[in-house]
Amino acid sequence: MLIPERTVRHDVQDLRAGLRGEVVTPADPAYAQARLAWNLAADQRPAFVVFPETADDVAAVVKHARRHGLRVVPQGTGHNASPIAWAEDMILLSTSRMRGVTIDVMGRRARVAAGTLWLEVTEPASEHGLAPLAGSSPDVGVVGYCLGGGISWLARKHGLAANSVLAIEIVTADGQLRRVDAENDAALFWALRGGGGNFGVVTAMEIALYPMPQLYAGAMWWDWQHSERVMHAWREWTLTLPDEVTSSARIMRVPPLPDIPEFLRGRDFVTIDAAIIGDRAHGAALVQKLRDLDPEIDTFDMVAPVALSRLHNDPEDPVPALTEHRLLRELPVDAIDAFLAAAGPDANAPLLLAEIRHLGGALGVAKPGNGALAKVDAAYLLFAAGIAMPELVPALKEALPAFKAALAPWDAGRGYLNFEENAADSRQFYDELTHRRLARIKTQMDPSDMFRANHPIKGTD
Ligand SMILES: Cc1cc2nc3c(=O)[nH]c(=O)nc-3n(C[C@H](O)[C@H](O)[C@H](O)COP(=O)(O)OP(=O)(O)OC[C@H]3O[C@@H](n4cnc5c(N)ncnc54)[C@H](O)[C@@H]3O)c2cc1C
Repeated sequence: MLIPERTVRHDVQDLRAGLRGEVVTPADPAYAQARLAWNLAADQRPAFVVFPETADDVAAVVKHARRHGLRVVPQGTGHNASPIAWAEDMILLSTSRMRGVTIDVMGRRARVAAGTLWLEVTEPASEHGLAPLAGSSPDVGVVGYCLGGGISWLARKHGLAANSVLAIEIVTADGQLRRVDAENDAALFWALRGGGGNFGVVTAMEIALYPMPQLYAGAMWWDWQHSERVMHAWREWTLTLPDEVTSSARIMRVPPLPDIPEFLRGRDFVTIDAAIIGDRAHGAALVQKLRDLDPEIDTFDMVAPVALSRLHNDPEDPVPALTEHRLLRELPVDAIDAFLAAAGPDANAPLLLAEIRHLGGALGVAKPGNGALAKVDAAYLLFAAGIAMPELVPALKEALPAFKAALAPWDAGRGYLNFEENAADSRQFYDELTHRRLARIKTQMDPSDMFRANHPIKGTD
């Protein structure tokens, strides 16, 4: 790993002296590691990196930044770090050392510190038969995910995770720690639930937990020579499902890595994953149509809520990845054909995976009291990723946009912030009124544009 050449231009002695956490500058040997994001393809070059350990530490960093005219880039894991355009005045504020979860079983809520990963919540919640609206990856950060929306395996029943956030503790540009909720700083609370990391540094979040006494979930895998019949059958299946079912279908090319079980290693599959809220008889009846397609692997069973954390086999160690996404307003037969032509066995595309997630249900309903991302105006979500090995990058830079373009006729007219890992105009994530309101709140809360999110919202002039 190359350490960027940089002279230390910022005097961090005062900051260091006042923190419990750590400050790492380019002059420190630890900088090479400290600047890494989970997505190793993100080449992060901050002026220095701060690892606060407390909310007071965060406030001290913000005050330091204000005094010295620096920008603060809040980051939990760096799963969505690629879009950030680094400049010499930018501090990377990593919340990775601010961890901890408190579960209130009776109140069905959890309080998580800023750097908490999803698995750290799903495991203890599951012991009480409770589930948060966690995403498919166990090590995505709760806070970054919820600020950007949050589409979980329970999404069609319970909506976006952002709209199940109950309260947020945040250090704003004035250096103050506030606790915002529906009654206190309601406009800021609205903006934070879907507006991303534009308004301050979140130090803790309180989220709802849902009772999940009966859950039937799993995956079915077929060799990818069956892609056509499986993908078309899944499409038809999704048209019949109640909101209790959230599912995805994928083309997955398993890398030939030694730590992958031999029967999967180096093979290409078409897979369907689903979570079904309900008992075994209900779940088994619902998936029978898929079972009739005779999968090679079938893991569907009654599960504890924590099992959803690894349903999708998302990578848990940092990887260099390039990705594309698109929200789809509908998924007719032609769209599946286009998907297969771009990513199926005949495509010869260097993609690790190409996926469609079923949206709709509660995701499409804007309830009173919801945040800035009140709903997702789309029926399906398209996503593809490739491993950014240097020798693969040129081919991926062609294949990913081509894959996205192939599904353009069914575009929903919006993007989804959490799945956008390329630099993008934030207007694509919201309707015009919502974006304008977010821009106004940005101006009020952060007039000097101190906080730099991965997807920046510019204040109004
Ligand atoms: C393997 C994988 C699986 C995924 N699965 C899903 C899924 O099922 N559903 C879904 O909706 N998304 C999913 N995502 C997308 C994921 O939700 C986004 O990448 C999200 O931004 C990750 O949050 P993070 O904190 O881990 O990442 P980071 O890159 O650390 O954070 C992303 C952004 O959030 C903001 N942020 C983070 N922490 C703070 C803070 N303390 N204060 C202020 N702002 C902050 C910043 O703007 C930051 O740039 C997945 C991504 C990957 C790579």
